[in-house]
Amino acid sequence: MSAQPFEPEFQQAYNEVEASLRDSSLFEKKPKYKKVLPVVSVPERIIQFRVTWENDKGEQEVAPGFRVQYNSAKGPYKGGLRFHPTVNLSILKFLGFEQIFKNALTGQSLGGGKGGLCVDLKGRSNNEIRRICYAFMRELSRHIGQDTDVPAGDIGVGGREVGYLFGAYKSYKNSWEGVLTGKGLNWGGSLIRPEATGYGLVYYVQAMIDYASKGKESFTGKRVAISGSGNVAQFAALKVIELGGTVVSLSDSKGAIVSQAGITAAQVGAISEAKINFKTLEQIVGDFAAFSDNKVTYIPGARPWIHVGKVDVALPCATQNEVSGEEAKTLIAAGVKFVAEGSNMGCTEEAVHIFEGERIVTETASQPAVWYAPGKASNMGGVAVSGLEMAQNSQRLTWSREQVDAELKKIMVNCFNDCLETALEYSNEANKQSLPSLVKGANLVGFIRVADAMFDQGDVW
Ligand code: NDP
Repeated sequence: MSAQPFEPEFQQAYNEVEASLRDSSLFEKKPKYKKVLPVVSVPERIIQFRVTWENDKGEQEVAPGFRVQYNSAKGPYKGGLRFHPTVNLSILKFLGFEQIFKNALTGQSLGGGKGGLCVDLKGRSNNEIRRICYAFMRELSRHIGQDTDVPAGDIGVGGREVGYLFGAYKSYKNSWEGVLTGKGLNWGGSLIRPEATGYGLVYYVQAMIDYASKGKESFTGKRVAISGSGNVAQFAALKVIELGGTVVSLSDSKGAIVSQAGITAAQVGAISEAKINFKTLEQIVGDFAAFSDNKVTYIPGARPWIHVGKVDVALPCATQNEVSGEEAKTLIAAGVKFVAEGSNMGCTEEAVHIFEGERIVTETASQPAVWYAPGKASNMGGVAVSGLEMAQNSQRLTWSREQVDAELKKIMVNCFNDCLETALEYSNEANKQSLPSLVKGANLVGFIRVADAMFDQGDVW
């Protein structure tokens, strides 16, 4: 019997990388890389710790906290903190494993890690959230530092939580340093960091549309289904609207909203304002004036994919495994051409398989139906701008909004080109008319960069 615990999410993330390497010509051309996967898939270190605090009722609560320091070959461990009741080691290992290769795709000097706390923040007061963040950092502060490990936000950890975590680190260590990214703008944060994952996702898809249509198409006139309504979904939606697309859906953990005419920027603004206070979309649609003129349909308990009708682009931006095989088939039948993950591992293995199958040109289909981009490539804008935040902290400088946005765009387009070229270089697919596999491309680029650093440093020999 295997000594390994059952870790389904981690296994899924591992399988994707393993299959991408196996289904390419990499090991045939460069056999030395075969040795790396068994080593890189084991985290350098996992820290698990007790977090205990007093809630607003004066009772003691306790929850497990984690930091997975996965790989430091390319730089300090870097990756977000997730505060959510589903947090466990399988989920943090999958996120940390993905993060290693994602960070390598940015082209920056960043290692990979992930952490979090198994807690539901919903319904808790600001004061209690502050106590939770301080309690979490009491232990985490021993293990991180600006040159060792630099966490950021993720689900449940936004600007407010990063502020409390940073304040806690500073007071425990007596050191003001760039130890977290996603900081406030007047105390070391970078312009465009809150927007970066959503904007970066849309820049990546723009590059896909440009390549697939040979420069003839853009977001203008495209119908775009988005899931989630948190940080990533909000800024992806705003950028799509700015570029002339129609956002036909958003969602949260309780249901989805659908609008055939398009969700407006004002409505996204109302959602952004209300989500900080943990309001549900159902409450927001009922309470906010922005929803009284331009009506949307609220569907309780639903994900958007089978409710949006005709659609050109699908951007899962909520959580892992939020597009099933059946939903993938429905999206294809509804005309989807581009699918790109804002969330990490947004599509199930079955959904990825179905989308990837539609990339191949067959005798009956003259054009590929779908082009799919995995999160480790299409959502890496957030960590890339975190890297720029670290650079600004080191220089004690603040770059302008335009400068950071231009840099983000360049990084996303470079990443797209790297994925494309590497997929072509190591492709063993006979059908050359098909669009190259961005999953294989992303996994190969990230893996080769990390593997080379590990060989150089004696992590593998
Ligand atoms: P937020 O916490 O800001 O928003 C998460 C959104 O997803 C909310 O709308 C939430 O609904 C919904 N959601 C959470 N869990 C579930 C679930 N189990 N089922 C259905 N809906 C759910 O997180 P982010 O926007 O920051 O992150 C979203 C995704 O993007 C995650 O996969 C994250 O790992 C990934 N990502 C984030 C980056 C960042 O910079 N923030 C960078 C790269 C990837 P509700 O409001 O009801 O809780």
